[in-house]
Amino acid sequence: MTLREVGFYLRGRVNSGVARLVNRGRAAPVLSLSLDDLLRSPHPSLLDYVRLLEGRPNHERQAIVASYLTVRGLPFQRYPYGTLEGSGENFVVDVGAGEQTLILIGHHDAVPGSPGANDDGSAVAILLTLADRLMCEPPKRIRVRLLFTGGEEIGYLGARCYVKTADLKGVMGVLSLELCGIGDSLAVWDAIPPLDGAPLLRAFEKTLERLGYRRDETYHIVGRIPFFGSDHRAFVALGIPAFGLTVVPQARAEELRQFIFSPLRNVFRQLVKRPPPFDTYHTSGDRSETLEPSALERTTAALFALAHSL
Ligand SMILES: [Zn+2]
Repeated sequence: MTLREVGFYLRGRVNSGVARLVNRGRAAPVLSLSLDDLLRSPHPSLLDYVRLLEGRPNHERQAIVASYLTVRGLPFQRYPYGTLEGSGENFVVDVGAGEQTLILIGHHDAVPGSPGANDDGSAVAILLTLADRLMCEPPKRIRVRLLFTGGEEIGYLGARCYVKTADLKGVMGVLSLELCGIGDSLAVWDAIPPLDGAPLLRAFEKTLERLGYRRDETYHIVGRIPFFGSDHRAFVALGIPAFGLTVVPQARAEELRQFIFSPLRNVFRQLVKRPPPFDTYHTSGDRSETLEPSALERTTAALFALAHSL
């Protein structure tokens, strides 16, 4: 294990430990949606996909993603992993046949005691919906790889194991979706030199502007975020342009900026009043009722457009 990996591991343990402590005895019951009910619905909404995972223990969240892909006949590969830190499975769905690959990630695990609706059921919902939409209308020039990881909350374990065994030739970039269910403004983060010059970022900017977003108003490209992280960091370690993608409420942008970039507030982030979407982050309040369908829809639409613009 490298020093960097020890860092990831420790961060994960602190994350889970704090969540376990804060959420102890506070979990109100959550009614998850069964896979049968989802499949019976003629037009399942993105929120229905979130409810498929919501409130379930991690082994069920993982299993239900695999069951969904199997039942829907979406071809996927399994990447099981097992180390001293933990074990689980990542799932990969490839769409399109170009030489370059865009990887989009959502993690299926959640921290203890949290229903895990926004973190990261929102991402899984978006990617499962994208899988369907892209299968109907595949990207013409690139391959899109939808990567459903496990163990993100224990130091990006699934992603770290994935990058060790997967063939990453031709990967042009990675976006890891985190908290994409609340707000009206898209934020791409960890855009730091030299990766901030990546063609993927330029293409995403162009796509968003074409969809009517405006830089620093309705979309933001920001640098390294202290304390928060996501699976893309396992790819950054290999020099691959990889970023986080989150939806935030524009009206709370200034409050968010202060919260995210103030190290002292971060240290006590479980105690201070946090602006959305961080008010429910890693808590028992991370439930589907708090999500905004429009946030899920706008992320799905933006990523679909990006896949077709590259
Ligand atoms: Zn997360």
